[in-house]
Amino acid sequence: MPLQPHLHLIRDVADFPKPGILFKDITPMLQHGPALKAAIDALADLTADLQADLMLGVESRGFLFASALAYATGTGVALVRKPGKLPADKVRVHYGLEYGQDALEIHTDAVKPGQRVLIMDDVLATGGTARAAADLVQQIGGVVVGYAFLIELDFLAGQQRLADAPVRSLLHY
Ligand code: AMP
Repeated sequence: MPLQPHLHLIRDVADFPKPGILFKDITPMLQHGPALKAAIDALADLTADLQADLMLGVESRGFLFASALAYATGTGVALVRKPGKLPADKVRVHYGLEYGQDALEIHTDAVKPGQRVLIMDDVLATGGTARAAADLVQQIGGVVVGYAFLIELDFLAGQQRLADAPVRSLLHY
């Protein structure tokens, strides 16, 4: 079943979390079994050629997609998290995002040297978050083979910051 009939389940919320931001709220789609399955199946198809052997989810909605894609492809999941959440040895990177400044962390043993990693999140906006996640992966010796998103906001040109590997997005706005 294609994702197209379910696109109304992605809800636009104006001025969230700040004035001027049109937030793409995917929770209605996540709640709908056939829509979620169609999205995961399509993301798996879209990224199969990248031959990733580890899915990297960016906190927090990225976890949903990385986990489902890992299950679909028989690979594992690694986590990039906000500061203070990871318990073991970690590295941190600071970055700018569409609505603020933040930092992200990864366990130093989250990725094996040379492992082929696919970076995943729900939305690609300015690309700052995915760039930070990729920098963390590279810092600990992983190979970023691609970036995958449910939604890409084309007008923010986030791809420009992710020029080091293919960017695959299911939906473009
Ligand atoms: P960016 O770093 O600018 O690419 O922002 C991407 C991160 O912020 C992702 O984790 C998204 O979940 C979230 N995000 C940014 N802009 C939006 C938006 N317009 N709608 C929904 N999520 C967004």
